[in-house]
Amino acid sequence: MPRPFPVSLRLDKKNRNSIAALLSVLEDELPSKLIEPRLIEQTEDFDGDGLLVCSFMSCARTRAASELAAWRARFGDRLQAIAGGCHASADPAGTLALGFRWVATGEAGTGFAQLVRDLAEGRHREPGVLVAGGAPPLDRYPPWPASGRLFAHVEITRGCPMACAFCQTPRLFGRTPRHRSLESIRRTFEHAAATGHRYTRFVAPNAFGYGSRDAIHSEPAAIEALLTTTRTAGIEEIYLGTFPSEVWPTSVTPELLQLVKDHCANRSIALGLQSGSADVLRAIRRGHTVEQGVAAVRAIAQAGFVPKVDFIFGFPGESDADREKTRTLIAHLVTDYGATIHAHLFEPLPGTPLAGATPSALDGPTRALIAELAGSRRLTGLDASELDEVDDERD
Ligand code: SF4
Repeated sequence: MPRPFPVSLRLDKKNRNSIAALLSVLEDELPSKLIEPRLIEQTEDFDGDGLLVCSFMSCARTRAASELAAWRARFGDRLQAIAGGCHASADPAGTLALGFRWVATGEAGTGFAQLVRDLAEGRHREPGVLVAGGAPPLDRYPPWPASGRLFAHVEITRGCPMACAFCQTPRLFGRTPRHRSLESIRRTFEHAAATGHRYTRFVAPNAFGYGSRDAIHSEPAAIEALLTTTRTAGIEEIYLGTFPSEVWPTSVTPELLQLVKDHCANRSIALGLQSGSADVLRAIRRGHTVEQGVAAVRAIAQAGFVPKVDFIFGFPGESDADREKTRTLIAHLVTDYGATIHAHLFEPLPGTPLAGATPSALDGPTRALIAELAGSRRLTGLDASELDEVDDERD
């Protein structure tokens, strides 16, 4: 019997869910023993055999390119590497130019599995871009491989109707939300509990949108069913509405916050406001107002949770007055509602309406506020040294 074809999946801190989903597709679509999946946590663990699979976000493209160059230097033309994920889907030509033999766009499914099968069975595949078709139901594949090789957060909703101008998610997964069914969730967690897992987090564009038609308005009965199904399947520690998923401001209600209190272990709720300027929120097509954001933060704090609020600094065209409004809002949220801030720097991501836009520079008062809040542990995500580096790059 021929030796199983090695398929090495590059696993890092940021792509665990993607790699779990890829393994799940391969397990589901291919005969057992056709391939030997290997997880590559250190670059030196890859031995050059078989197929190398990389999945990365745009923010990791530089690291992915340098890893690929190092592997190419070691293995030469023997290297067979494919890239997929957010960045590859948004910029397939640019990703191919990094040196990958194949680039897969869209959601992994039968096309990716067929490439692996062809290689495993010795058939030649021309280099180039593989375009995945359609948007399969989320139930089509389990969120992680049934073999238990990789446990990850459970994706309950895919696709986002909001289409914020800086975000790749709706361009990659579409604007029509697809929810994982309760039956799939029950099966997933019964299997998880049977294999010793007692803890979960969820992946969704809006964690409070599970089960709702637009994934923006909340359906409390659907959220309650999600949480009770998860618990009765044997999961004891549940986190909803916090890392790795946020809640959409207008979906926050006292009823939902009470459900989280009753069923979940989280002490914080995460949400994105992004800017304190109404003009900036309009320009980035955010879809909620500053006032709606503040009302959500207030409700979260009144329910006894720590609000964790995302802001993005450096949007294109931001004025001094816009930045002042953001600073004033942040001070209000921190002082009056005990919020912590999760700060990001704007990056023009390929595939989005703001691709190619120039980030605006941070002014002195904004830098000072970030440094002060980081020093008092009220802000995470950025520190003064990163701002210095960014200033060097943007000068
Ligand atoms: S709501 Fe979130 S996931 Fe949806 S487009 Fe905006 S930033 Fe992206």
